[in-house]
Amino acid sequence: MNIQFQACGLILDVILIYFFLRHETVGLFSERIFRMSLVVNTICVILDIASIITIVSAVYLPAIVVTIVSKLYLVSLVGVAYLGFLYTSNDVRHLREDETLNRILKIVLGVEVFFVLALPIDFHHEGNIIYTYGFSTAVAYIFMAVFVLGAVLLTFTHSKYMNASRRNAIRAWMALEVLAAVLQNIFPQFQLIGFGSAVGLFVLYCELESPESYLDRVTGTFSYETLVLYLKQLFAEDRKFAGIVVCTEDSWKMDSEQENRILVEISEYLHSFSGAKLFRTFGNDFILIYDGKEAEKGLIESAINLDLIKARFQEPFDKGSMNVPAKFLYLPDPHIATDCDEYLEICRINKDEMTRDEMGRLLDEAAGSRIREQRRVRSEIVKALEEDRVEVHFQPIYSIEEQRFVSAEALARIIGSDGKLIMPGLFIPVAEEYGLIDQIGERVFEITCRTFREQNLREKGIKYVEVNLSVAQCENARLSDIYNKIMEREQVEPTSINLEITESSTLHYKNILLENMNALGRLGCSFSLDDFGTGESNLNYIVDMPVQIVKFDRTMVQDYFVNDRAKTVMRATVAMIKEIGLKIVAEGVETKEQLDAMEALGVDYIQGYYFSKPLQEKDFLKFIAARNMAA
Ligand code: C2E
Ligand code: MG
Ligand code: MG
Repeated sequence: MNIQFQACGLILDVILIYFFLRHETVGLFSERIFRMSLVVNTICVILDIASIITIVSAVYLPAIVVTIVSKLYLVSLVGVAYLGFLYTSNDVRHLREDETLNRILKIVLGVEVFFVLALPIDFHHEGNIIYTYGFSTAVAYIFMAVFVLGAVLLTFTHSKYMNASRRNAIRAWMALEVLAAVLQNIFPQFQLIGFGSAVGLFVLYCELESPESYLDRVTGTFSYETLVLYLKQLFAEDRKFAGIVVCTEDSWKMDSEQENRILVEISEYLHSFSGAKLFRTFGNDFILIYDGKEAEKGLIESAINLDLIKARFQEPFDKGSMNVPAKFLYLPDPHIATDCDEYLEICRINKDEMTRDEMGRLLDEAAGSRIREQRRVRSEIVKALEEDRVEVHFQPIYSIEEQRFVSAEALARIIGSDGKLIMPGLFIPVAEEYGLIDQIGERVFEITCRTFREQNLREKGIKYVEVNLSVAQCENARLSDIYNKIMEREQVEPTSINLEITESSTLHYKNILLENMNALGRLGCSFSLDDFGTGESNLNYIVDMPVQIVKFDRTMVQDYFVNDRAKTVMRATVAMIKEIGLKIVAEGVETKEQLDAMEALGVDYIQGYYFSKPLQEKDFLKFIAARNMAA
């Protein structure tokens, strides 16, 4: 009997099923469809063999049996092609979730099954050459062609939704099916279709669906890429799940062999919690997802496991030789996020924010809304940058010695999409978090320089403008270059610019900051130390940094009036700063009493609501014109 090819196809399918089932699978849509394809293809090959046997033995069997077996084979053949189409369209989310398309596909499949079963079929049996023909067979081949060509077409029309290896693997699978069908038609003695399809699935397995491709190489847990696919699916299905993120501190990196050993040990330990799926996430972190059908059970299990895991990390790893400091994020409810990106962002930001002493965080609705607000502000910033809605307001700075306004601080504002002003206290931290601060800073600097030149501020008594720099900007090695270019382009003398820096515990590259300051200083820019007197700043900084001005924070001005001790400390501080030869600006001066006190202390400049709030350009010009003229 002519069943050698089918037998080979069957063996291939069985091997594939064996390997596929040996590994734990995440349960992605594509995995499910692939598994279904394997099963249907196996059934198809078995039915192919059965149909040949029944045709050969037709004389001994009732005609209806021969007909039914052959027709079922044809139905399963189309089934494989249908799953191929489904596998391809599944890559495109809007197709996958398109109810109408899915309904149409099911109807098409139903129509096909009806016609294949209802229409007449004929059998050809002549020596080695056995095949079916007639309307039923023709319909099956037509539908098969429709699904196969449809799948291939999708890989072209929707190519931007699929990566190259997915597109190519799907095309190879479909091409093998077509090739087998064509060859079988030319050489009917070779029963190639079932075999061709099995080879196609084999290619798909090797290229895409091998469970190995979903795993992290070092730990054997599911990889970060798999986590993203999986979370997207959980959100698309609106499933309830709990998550535990185990964040191992970045500082525990040692030689990579020991690190790998410990990572494997941690992953094996975490893997022992059977109710959860384990993924490796950012760096050396892991996440356990409890996504069982019973959400309540997952919630209880995750809460219990969290305590166990915390206790385990109190003990050393690597045969008791190595402590792995870890922090934990617990997310009992996925609905704190609206999608996968937001979920991962909530995890990432909270991980970064955790302080040294924090053991972990429970991430609830509040954590979610905070991140959503940040994302809203981020998109406001991006739009404002695109649509040129960044503004600069100027707050006049008064010189006690000269009794007039000699400078101003440039303060960033954003006009929100609703037309309302967004204050820097809201958007600067978000811009820093999302890497937008360089763009904002440059835009503010550009506007400031332009205003300075176009409005001839120097002639109006403004000797220089103070512009804020963020820590992240100071750590950008190209800062001095970029700012120099802006000053050149806007034709502003560097001596007209004073840059405000702040001391910060998040400053990692002090050397880059110093290089930037030296380069800009050589050009003629001067520097202020902002926010002096707040938690972060101390006297050491004044010693280390080439600044010419120290700006007393508003809180310091207020504290002066709290008690006599504060007065004494402030007097001594002023004396010390003056002895070094630096100037002092008192910020946040709101009353005459404060102004007098600062003047008595020996402060050089006053900035605050007592004189003026930060003003729009035109109001600032009016203010300066009126006040400096009178002076
Ligand atoms: P800062 O640099 O310390 O600026 C002084 C802040 O104090 C300004 O707030 C100003 O409006 C406010 N202020 C001044 N005088 C008084 C007063 O008498 N009473 C009160 N209650 N407040 C007063 P603003 O404009 O909201 O800016 C807040 C912070 O945002 C700034 O603090 C600065 O750190 C940051 N910032 C503003 N613009 C920029 C920018 O272009 N780049 C960067 N990196 N940061 C900026
Ligand atoms: Mg400032
Ligand atoms: Mg300040």
